[in-house]
Amino acid sequence: MKDLGFTTRQVHADRVLNQPAAGAVHTPTTNSVLFEYKDAQGIIDVFQGKAPGHVYGRSSCPSVAALQDMINQLEDGIGSLCFATGMAAISSTLFALFRQGDHLIVSEYLFGNTRSFFDTLSDFGVQITYVDVTSVQAIEDAYQPNTRGVYTETVANPVTQVADMQAIGKYCKHRNILFMVDNTMTPPPLTHVKQFDASLIFCSLTKYIGGHGNALGGAVTDTGSYDWQNFPNIAEAYRSAEPAQWGLTQIKKRGLRDLGATLSAGAAHALSVGMETLFLRLERSCRNALKLATFLETRPKVKRVYYPGMSDHPQHFIAREQLNGYYGAILSLELHDEYDPVAFINALELVICATHLGDNRTLALPVAATIFHEAGEQGREKMGIAESLIRISVGIEDTDDLIRDFAQALESL
Ligand SMILES: *Cc1c(COP(=O)(O)O)cnc(C)c1O
Repeated sequence: MKDLGFTTRQVHADRVLNQPAAGAVHTPTTNSVLFEYKDAQGIIDVFQGKAPGHVYGRSSCPSVAALQDMINQLEDGIGSLCFATGMAAISSTLFALFRQGDHLIVSEYLFGNTRSFFDTLSDFGVQITYVDVTSVQAIEDAYQPNTRGVYTETVANPVTQVADMQAIGKYCKHRNILFMVDNTMTPPPLTHVKQFDASLIFCSLTKYIGGHGNALGGAVTDTGSYDWQNFPNIAEAYRSAEPAQWGLTQIKKRGLRDLGATLSAGAAHALSVGMETLFLRLERSCRNALKLATFLETRPKVKRVYYPGMSDHPQHFIAREQLNGYYGAILSLELHDEYDPVAFINALELVICATHLGDNRTLALPVAATIFHEAGEQGREKMGIAESLIRISVGIEDTDDLIRDFAQALESL
């Protein structure tokens, strides 16, 4: 499979990796919570990690295992684990790996709920320093002897800051600390974050991977680039396996099994079907986003457009190097002060007002009053989020239809 093209691999992944019974091309949806062992030694061996198998649906089932193998292939990792949502993947993994007294360096431009979760982690005694990840200097400055890792997103939403992953990855390697990257916004083939020495890759499968707005899910992938023997928080019980497996074992036991945010088999199936057309949808959405951003930038009522594909974007060159010639499908805009962003969104006829991204359909959202309401005006200012900011998640509609809708909504103001 390795030398095949991206989409060829995607559409054959389930069949080839998982070999479903009777020549089926999809892994069947397993609705059983329990798994019978005729021979008690069989279940003992699985419990003790001496044989592969499923024992209880909270920890694993064949449908979720099949999706995990497909995600792992997508990210070129040594293993993946799926969770009920993207937030479950992030929170379960971080709870499983970090403890009181650890220090983490975290991007100050984060998905709002992830930022809120880091505040929870901080209440549990994990020290957090928020930094500007567009330059590695801020990370070097924040480093302390108890720093255990760096956490960032590839391209932040809504303002589209791009992390300098190449430099950050090198620095983390040099310091022997975990480099954790949320790649939800730019999944492969846009960004293979493994190439930047990412240790753990997070993804909200709810977004581009699923793509159709009909299933929630999340994943974490271990790329194999981090040597877990450098990590002091692995429990004794999980150190008996190969060191490469230590991290995922602890995440699986303490994160997935103990916290219990398990992905359902039905959602795993829906997400795996979505994955087949990942690149077709992404390519189209990215192309639409570039055309729409270019159009919006010429409109006199538009004050500012944020999109990494624009040559005046502060990280345009980093994006061009890191995103394989694409710039993602999220853009934001501000109108001139005399125009009401809410009236503008209401005037859009085709575009849906909704809080989601990575969908087939184009979505618009007034950011400050909704997903960043909790952050407060000062918090928003620190994150570079203007009060009038509108986020657009660009879908796969025909480009002309989108441009016409935006044009008529601007006209109506
Ligand atoms: C949506 C999102 C998440 C959370 O994913 P859910 O599946 O909604 O829990 C995490 N990170 C980023 C960058 C996201 O966009």
